[in-house]
Amino acid sequence: MAKIKILDKNVANQIAAGEVVERPASVIKELVENSLDAGATVIDVEIIQGGIEYLRVTDNGQGMSAEDALLAIERHATSKINLAEDLAKIHTLGFRGEALPSIASVSEFKLLTRTKEDELAIIVQVAGGSVKELEKTGANLGTTVFVENLFYNLPARRKFLKTVSTEARYINEVITKLALSRPDVKFTLKNNERLVLKTPGSGQLQDCIQALYGSEVAEALLTVNLQAAGIVVTGFVSRPSFTKSSRILQLAFVNKRSITSKLVYRAIDAAYQSKIARGTHPFALLNITIDTEQVDVNVHPQKQEVK
Ligand code: ADP
Ligand code: MG
Repeated sequence: MAKIKILDKNVANQIAAGEVVERPASVIKELVENSLDAGATVIDVEIIQGGIEYLRVTDNGQGMSAEDALLAIERHATSKINLAEDLAKIHTLGFRGEALPSIASVSEFKLLTRTKEDELAIIVQVAGGSVKELEKTGANLGTTVFVENLFYNLPARRKFLKTVSTEARYINEVITKLALSRPDVKFTLKNNERLVLKTPGSGQLQDCIQALYGSEVAEALLTVNLQAAGIVVTGFVSRPSFTKSSRILQLAFVNKRSITSKLVYRAIDAAYQSKIARGTHPFALLNITIDTEQVDVNVHPQKQEVK
């Protein structure tokens, strides 16, 4: 008898969740990316107890049919790529078809969604990785995903979460970056019933920076606009008079995807070298646009780095 077995679906999903779903903030990142990929212009996020007990992402995107809603929670099920060649030119934030099944395998998960063709929305509820309930109901166009009791079935994972306020801060950081990547989309974040973040969705990056960081930052900005060797870099940097003691206000986006990049940090350091004190860092938000075929986005489990 063979010693090797193909793993049960639920086990495979939990293993994938180990890479993708580290904490509530990673769940929110995946869900908001899905909302953006679905063409949403309004995205509302709500969390309770740092997102560990409860989190919700509501969008006004294209929604899913009942059939698609059930497929969406299957592993390797995606509407975003089809052929291997598509991996070389990804235009969406997601592409692996792993987020929803991974999240659903480690939480109490509920999806509520309606397309404009459907009169009624569908509710798909998943517990312990298997579909528990499926019903129809009235709802707005778009999708809401509810995630409760994250890691309820993985106590070791749950134990490694930080305090409620730290998890809430990570969520705030994730949404801040996503909001800055799309000034054309209106974002809100409610933490324990209190509105803590709101962007206007005006399409103007400066309005978004002002809403998230306030006037002190917004008034210190200089415009960046460069084009060379097929690469376009736009955004804002602060005057040398405005600095911080950490890199918290240095953000880079490649084709609207937030990334961390030592290369970009080094470039910012080099540009400011003789102008600011050692150990201080300017504000910098750089939108880098490169031909999608020149970028490999499939190099990091949480897609935080690109090549
Ligand atoms: P991926 O984003 O890599 O395709 P996911 O597991 O995150 O994989 O989502 C699976 C599929 O479910 C997506 O390809 C998309 O078709 C659908 N989907 C997920 N979230 C939404 C949403 N908010 N609105 C519309 N469709 C969605
Ligand atoms: Mg996704």
